[in-house]
Amino acid sequence: MSVNPYEMAVKQLKKAIDVLGYDETVFNVLKVPQRVLEVSIPVRMDNGKVKVFIGYRVQHNNALGPYKGGVRYHPEVTKDEVVALAMWMTWKCSVAGLPYGGAKGGVKVDPRKLSMRELEELSRGYIRAIAPIIGPYKDIPAPDVYTNPQVMAWYMDEYGKLKGYNVPGVVTAKPVELWGSYGRKEATGYGVAIAAKTASRKYGIPFEGARVAVQGYGNVGYYSALFMHQWGAKIVAISDSKGGIYHPQGLDPVKVKSFKNRTGTVVGYTDAKKGITNEQLLTLEDIDILVPAAIENVITVENADKVHAKIIVEGANGPVTPEADEILFKKGVVVVPDIIANAGGVIVSYYEWVQNLQGIQWDLNKVLKMLEDKMVSALDKIYRKYYSLGTDLRTAAHALAVERVVNAMKLRGWL
Ligand code: NAD
Repeated sequence: MSVNPYEMAVKQLKKAIDVLGYDETVFNVLKVPQRVLEVSIPVRMDNGKVKVFIGYRVQHNNALGPYKGGVRYHPEVTKDEVVALAMWMTWKCSVAGLPYGGAKGGVKVDPRKLSMRELEELSRGYIRAIAPIIGPYKDIPAPDVYTNPQVMAWYMDEYGKLKGYNVPGVVTAKPVELWGSYGRKEATGYGVAIAAKTASRKYGIPFEGARVAVQGYGNVGYYSALFMHQWGAKIVAISDSKGGIYHPQGLDPVKVKSFKNRTGTVVGYTDAKKGITNEQLLTLEDIDILVPAAIENVITVENADKVHAKIIVEGANGPVTPEADEILFKKGVVVVPDIIANAGGVIVSYYEWVQNLQGIQWDLNKVLKMLEDKMVSALDKIYRKYYSLGTDLRTAAHALAVERVVNAMKLRGWL
């Protein structure tokens, strides 16, 4: 990220506080996390030497319930970044209507340079180090960048060893075979597709036949495209890190995915009309809905003015910069913000936790139906706030999220 993520998070909070008319005290309480734990994790590497890695667990606010948030393994992880991400989780859980507070974890490491054994030892070491402050009723980690269901399985196993019994509800997004939930892998894309369908209905664009471009064809991009296609939209453009493809009559998401699985990229897909660049995808003239589902900061002051889509649904975290937001707002482009658009993952994580606490497993249809209900209800409340405040959707979503947390804090007697 080019901007300091903590400064950006604090700015967003300030904007929400001002819109809500809260005083300085509320801002001062919420701009800092409740707890920051820094740990060192010694790992015996395959060469026999011990290397020490630095990790964090940041717990921002638990007024609404136990802390919840992913763990990121990345060489660029900083404390500031983890604090910002923890704060965003507080808003994301709040706006989605979940009984959770916000947290985030990070380990400064390039996991691609570790062997499987080293990665497992690091993961078990990290969970031992943060074990005193996590638990199914305290703080429930999940995956983020470069962590996955296998890492969650190690976390659960190691935590269970410390406790002396199996504690599945301590982490979510575990493998389905090991207390994970059906629907977790589809969840974020499914939620993005619902956010897109809801927005197009609100803005009078028939979803049936709506023209969509999707940037990024990993977990979020693929499932977003798949469900939007199934619900009648036309996916006219798709890209990944190597470039993009375009067809005015629409692409078949499943066929594109199997091509990418075979070749490693969507580029060169045989049924496409032409190849395009990522920049061209973002500024295509004949699209209604744009779904950036790859990385942050792709719509900036440089290209915001050239965006022709009527609706942007943020599948990725932070794809639109704050300056670009202002340009898009003036142009009348609707941006469905990441904190709700990509909340499907954390919503199904919540359902996984509920299943774990009860020792049951629901089927895929039940999970997706419950996800849809939760997304629709959260989006309805955001739109109502948006109409009453007259701001952009992002500010409305943040305001709603902050308001819920502040109400909970007041009822608890914290403010
Ligand atoms: P992923 O690794 O499965 O896929 C990422 C995709 O983006 C890949 O197709 C990759 O080729 C493409 N990509 C990478 N750099 C690119 C670039 N410069 N230009 C165009 N494409 C590029 O990741 P994912 O799980 O799909 O996550 C995507 C985004 O969604 C991230 O911002 C992530 O934080 C966010 N997100 C994911 C989830 C989830 O449940 N997976 C939940 C919330 C938010």
